[in-house]
Parts: sequence; structure tokens; C-alpha cells
Amino acid sequence: MKKITIIIPAYNEEESLPFLYERLEKLMKSINNYEFEILFVNDGSKDKTIDLIKEYREKDNRISYVDFSRNFGKETAMIAGLDYAKGDCVIFMDADLQDPPELIPELIKWWEQGYDDVYARRKSRKGETWLKKFTSKMYYRVLQSLTNVEIQRDTGDFRLLDRRCVNALKKLRESQRCSKSMFSWIGYKKKEVLYDRDPRIAGKTKWNYKKLVDLAIDGITSFTTSPLRISTYLCIPTFLVLGIYFIYVIIKAIVTSTAIQAFQAIILLILFFAGVQILLFGIIGEYLGRIFNETKQRPLYLVNEYNGIREENE
Ligand code: UDP
Ligand code: MG
Repeated sequence: MKKITIIIPAYNEEESLPFLYERLEKLMKSINNYEFEILFVNDGSKDKTIDLIKEYREKDNRISYVDFSRNFGKETAMIAGLDYAKGDCVIFMDADLQDPPELIPELIKWWEQGYDDVYARRKSRKGETWLKKFTSKMYYRVLQSLTNVEIQRDTGDFRLLDRRCVNALKKLRESQRCSKSMFSWIGYKKKEVLYDRDPRIAGKTKWNYKKLVDLAIDGITSFTTSPLRISTYLCIPTFLVLGIYFIYVIIKAIVTSTAIQAFQAIILLILFFAGVQILLFGIIGEYLGRIFNETKQRPLYLVNEYNGIREENE
């Protein structure tokens, strides 16, 4: 029998977990021809999340868990899930039931037909503000315009990945992760499945705008170095304008034999170039930061325990 691992990153989800477990149990009961492993990654929750997971594991041996030593973020929880998953394929799912488990049979169906990466695309997003929808739409546009690799729109992390995709993703060990672009980058045969995204079942979203902006910047800089090229594109016209203006000023001063009276223009120019420089330094700093983090070669995460076994970091 083939094994399917459902990976669920969970951070302070004590309120959602009972609903989640109930829905998953129902689902697993309805699918008999597969073995299931439900792998929770407890991302340093401060509430009773881990106690609940342990409780479920006691009565249900399909439940596994990786317990982080602290909060490392969802992206890191996802790679840990891939590291510990035993299945022939994995399915990523949020703990808050925004990704309906009832879609899983359809994901499996396409996997059986030979697709490696079956991803769920949102038809609608209930319970999310228009600002969040709008910003996420703009973000996809920008990300796509910067790269040749096709990026799936309106797609979260809810997807099924074949074992070979899992193994491929496990080889991408950079520390500032953006799964969305990694899923695109690995390629393989992809299939889109449409669904309605539900509002969160209980508890509060763990995202805020700072986290989202961070994720967006990480996404762009981890995926492409084309922002570095902005400097080239910006510098060429500015230097052209500067050159022409400089010659114009000199010639005018010589021809009319008057002093250059353009202090206002000079102030404007100074401001302009200061602005350009700040922008460019910002971009360079972005990449420098990445290089800094990658050169540290730290492990991506630390585990407190896996299925009750203490991690000694030996
Ligand atoms: N999550 C996590 N670590 C974090 C933040 C979130 O593992 O630092 C998990 C969270 O428990 C949930 C999923 O990531 O299962 C999505 O989080 P959330 O629902 O808060 O995000 P949203 O759906 O609002 O984008
Ligand atoms: Mg959510």
C-alpha cells in the first residue's frame, strides 16, 4: 500500500486542532486504499498545541510529530516536514482548515494519473481583507515579471508532491526560504486543482504585514538577482542626463561669461542622486544579508523531539 504523508505546520493552533483532527479522521476513514501518516511540525507553539498532538498520537499511531526547539517560521516547518516525511507523496496543509481536507482525494487522483505536483488554486478567499488579496495579487505580478520560471498564481502551500519532488526540495537548503518559488523552480509535471479557500476555523492568523513584506522580499531576492540589475538600468540614463546637463552648463557659462546660477538645480540633483544611492545600497544590502546568512551554514532548524524521542544534536 502506498503511503501518504500529510504535513501540517502548527504554531499556536490549540483552538483549530480538534476541528482539524476530526475532519482528517473522517477523511482517512473514507480512503481505504492508502496508508496515512499525519506529520505535525510544532513550530515552537506557546499554547497547548504540542500536548494535543501528543494526545492524538497516543490513540492514533498514524500521527507523528516534530517538535521544534523554538519558533522557526512556517517555511522552515515545511522543510522539516519534508525531512521527516516517510510517504510516497506528501501533502502540505495548514492547521486552521483553510485548506479543505475534502480536496485531498482529488489531489491523489491526479497524482495516480502521473502528475508530480498537484497544487490547489484558490477560486475565492473568504474571510480575508481586500487589502491582503490586492497586495498578494500585486506581489505575484512583480515576482512573475522578474523571472522566466512560471509561478503559479493564487496558489498557497496546499499541494501534493511526489516523492521525487520531495527529494528535490530537500536538496534546496538555503536558510531564507520561499517555498512558492521553489515549487516552481523544481519543475516536473504540474496539475492545477481549483477550490474555495475557507476562512480560518478558530484562533487568529499568525501573519501580519511585516511578516508578509519580509516574505515578499525574501521571495524576490531568493529567486532572482535581477533587482541587482536595476542599478545598471538606472545608472545609464542618469549618467547620460548628468553628462548632457554638465556640458550644457559649462558651454553656457563660457558663451555668456556668467557664473553658474543654478543652486536650486544642484540641490535637486543632489537629492536625486542621494535617493538613487540609497535605493542601490538597499538592494546590495539585501543580497549581502543573504550571503551572510548562507555562509553561516547553520542547520535550518533544531528539533526538541521527534515522536517522543529527545533530540541530542549529536
Ligand atoms: N505557522 C507556522 N509558524 C509560524 C506561523 C504560522 O507553522 O510562525 C502555521 C500555522 O499554524 C498555520 C499555517 O502556518 O498552520 C498558516 O498560518 P496562518 O493561518 O496564520 O496564515 P494565513 O492563512 O493567515 O496566511
Ligand atoms: Mg490560515
